[in-house]
Amino acid sequence: MAQATLTIDLDAIRANWRALDRKTDAETAAVVKADAYGLGVGPVATALAKEGARRFFVALAEEGAELRRILGPGPEICVFSGHMEGDADLIAGANLVPMLNSIDQMLRHVESLPGHGFGIQLDTGMNRLGMELAEWSALRDIALAQNPALVMSHLACADEAAHPMNTRQNDNFRAMTDGIDAPRSLSATGGVLMDESFHFDVTRPGIGLYGGLPYVDAVPVVTLDIPVIQIREVAVGETIGYGNTFVAEENIHVATIAAGYADGIIRAMGPKASVWAGETRCKILGRISMDLIGIDVSNAKAPPVSVELLGRHQSIDTVAEAAGTIGYEILTSLGARYNRRYTGA
Ligand SMILES: *Cc1c(COP(=O)(O)O)cnc(C)c1O
Repeated sequence: MAQATLTIDLDAIRANWRALDRKTDAETAAVVKADAYGLGVGPVATALAKEGARRFFVALAEEGAELRRILGPGPEICVFSGHMEGDADLIAGANLVPMLNSIDQMLRHVESLPGHGFGIQLDTGMNRLGMELAEWSALRDIALAQNPALVMSHLACADEAAHPMNTRQNDNFRAMTDGIDAPRSLSATGGVLMDESFHFDVTRPGIGLYGGLPYVDAVPVVTLDIPVIQIREVAVGETIGYGNTFVAEENIHVATIAAGYADGIIRAMGPKASVWAGETRCKILGRISMDLIGIDVSNAKAPPVSVELLGRHQSIDTVAEAAGTIGYEILTSLGARYNRRYTGA
C-alpha cells in the first residue's frame, strides 16, 4: 500500500483543551472552522464535546449546519462570518448563533429571523471583521436590548505576547463593552496564554487544541507516516527529480516516498525540510513532486519501510518554518488522500 497514514490523536486534542481551560476562569469554547483545521470536524468536535466543550465556533453557516448534525441539539454553535444573504434557513434550521459584523447584518438578521439569537463581533483594530466604534455606538443600545449571546473581538498580534497592539485592542474592547451584561470574548489561543485581563468570559482557542504554536506546551496531535516505494543508489554527479535541482556530491542511497504537494506537503519547503526514518534525519532531495519525494536514507540504520514527516521528531511548526509559513497552514493543507486514523476519543 502506497497510501500515507495521517494519525490524529483525539486524546491529545482533549488534553490540550483541558489544559487551556485550566489556564483561565473563563468558559473555554472550541474553534473547529475549516473542518477542525483540516483534522476532521466529526471526530474532533465529538471528542471536544465529550471533554466538556459547550460552545463551538465555525467560519461559515454551512460549517455550522454540518456541526449541528454532528453534535445534535445542545451545544451553542457560533458563526464568525455572521448572517450573510441566504443564510437565514441554515441559521434557523441548525439553530446557529451568527456573530453579526455590521449594521447591514444586524438588519438582515432581525428582519429575516426576528427573535433568533445572535452575537456581536467588534473590530478593535485588526480591520478584518466586526463593527467599528461608530457603527457600534449607533447600534449598541438596540443590540444590547435583545440580549446578545456574546460580544467578541479578535487580537491581531496575540502570537507575540509583548506586542503593544494587544494592550491597545484590549483597551478598545473594554471601552466599547465595559458595563454590558452580555458575556465577552477577546482571546483565541494566544490570548489564553496572556494575563487574565485578556480572558473575559469566554475564550476561543483553535490552534492550541491541535498542537500548534503559540501554545508551546501543547501535546502533539498529528503523525504523518509516508511509505517508501523504492530505494536506489545514486552515484556522485547524478541528479534527482524534476529540474535536476539536486546533484549528488557523493554516492548516496535515495528513497522515493509516496506523498507530495498534492497531499499538502508544500513544494517550496523542499531543500530545507527533512523526514525521519526511526531516529535518523533524512533530508529531502530535489523538488517535491505531486505524489513523490526523494529523500537521503544513506544514514538510516536499515532500509526504511516508511518515514515520518510529522510526529515525535518534527512538529507542524518545524515543517511550517521550512516552508516559510505557519502551523495553521500546514494543518489545513493536509490532503484528502491520506488514510486517516483516529486514536483515543
Ligand atoms: C480562527 C479564530 C480563532 C481561533 O484562533 P487560534 O489562533 O487558532 O486559537 C478565534 N477567533 C477568531 C475570530 C478566529 O478567526
